[in-house]
Amino acid sequence: MIPFLDLHKINQRFENDFKKAFSLFLDESYFILGKQVSRFEKAFAEFCGTRYCIGVGNGLDALRLILEGYKALEILSEGDEVLVASNTYIATILAIKQAGMVPVLVEANSENYNFNLFHLKTQITSKTKVIMPVHLYGEISPMNEINELAKENNLIVIEDAAQAHGAEYLNGKKAGNLGDAAGFSFYPSKNLGALGDGGAITTNNKELAEILKKLRNYGTSSKYVNDEIGFNSRLDEIQAAFLNIKLPLLEADNNRRRAIANKYISGITNNKIILPNYDGSKNHVFHLFVVRVGNREEFTNYLTENGVGNLIHYPIPPHHQEALLDFANLNFPMTEKIHEEVVSIPMSPMLTDDEVQKVISILNDY
Ligand SMILES: *Cc1c(COP(=O)(O)O)cnc(C)c1O
Repeated sequence: MIPFLDLHKINQRFENDFKKAFSLFLDESYFILGKQVSRFEKAFAEFCGTRYCIGVGNGLDALRLILEGYKALEILSEGDEVLVASNTYIATILAIKQAGMVPVLVEANSENYNFNLFHLKTQITSKTKVIMPVHLYGEISPMNEINELAKENNLIVIEDAAQAHGAEYLNGKKAGNLGDAAGFSFYPSKNLGALGDGGAITTNNKELAEILKKLRNYGTSSKYVNDEIGFNSRLDEIQAAFLNIKLPLLEADNNRRRAIANKYISGITNNKIILPNYDGSKNHVFHLFVVRVGNREEFTNYLTENGVGNLIHYPIPPHHQEALLDFANLNFPMTEKIHEEVVSIPMSPMLTDDEVQKVISILNDY
């Protein structure tokens, strides 16, 4: 059996350091917003190349709080429209809704599973205030085009970087430093994953960073002094300690993921399987390796019977979810096709060359 993602194996590498960190944490008993969170914020800002990083509770809150921050600065307000990919994970859309804004879904393209840029352009209205690109599956969105469009129309760009820690764009800048602000998730299965929930916001905007530090902590500027109607969404001190231990290995893990992706792409020659378009650059960190097939159920049954772990990201498009009935009448043919055909095959820095070869030959025998 080749697992889809072996989290135990990923984290086992750090077991001794985790145990030491936990022991120190218990000794010090400083549980919330302590030294580990500050240390991580500094290290992750440096990693992304941004001036600021604010640790928060999870990726959904990271995106939501960015919008709340702009509202508190009176730059955005409720009812503003946010352009967002129609094939994203639902969290991106929920963040917009929770902030009282209006998600406007934009059709995908099948080349990189990102915005169809023609549709993106035509959906800008006088109410549009934000473009929220998602670096889906770990591949950076076409940020040059998006930023240019944003500039022409005076829009804010907020990256959903939850799947793209460490991905590097054409200009050498990393995910998290390609728009006005970015939201990250450290959900355990992400490329940089905690041992529980966690998230962060990166930005170069000082006013935004300052207000976000308050908003994540009840709107507090100093103890028991409240300047804003805030939230409780802080990165956990112990999760920050674990992330501080894991961050130094992220780059090597991403390189290993890319090496595996290159092996898959050169090794899988079955023309029933559509492979991702990959230019070999660092703009993809292969959070997921997603292929497409015509008869998905037959294919996933075949994989499972042959011991190849597989998952679907994602089986139901947001506009067909029960939770988002107001989008039920929308039509996105490409997004719907993507949701019918995608299958994620094993991808983890811990896969051995043997396992990768086995996956390749099983897929070629299909
Ligand atoms: C994981 C993820 C999120 C949400 O992160 P949580 O930490 O689970 O809240 C948001 N957007 C995308 C694209 C994700 O993959």
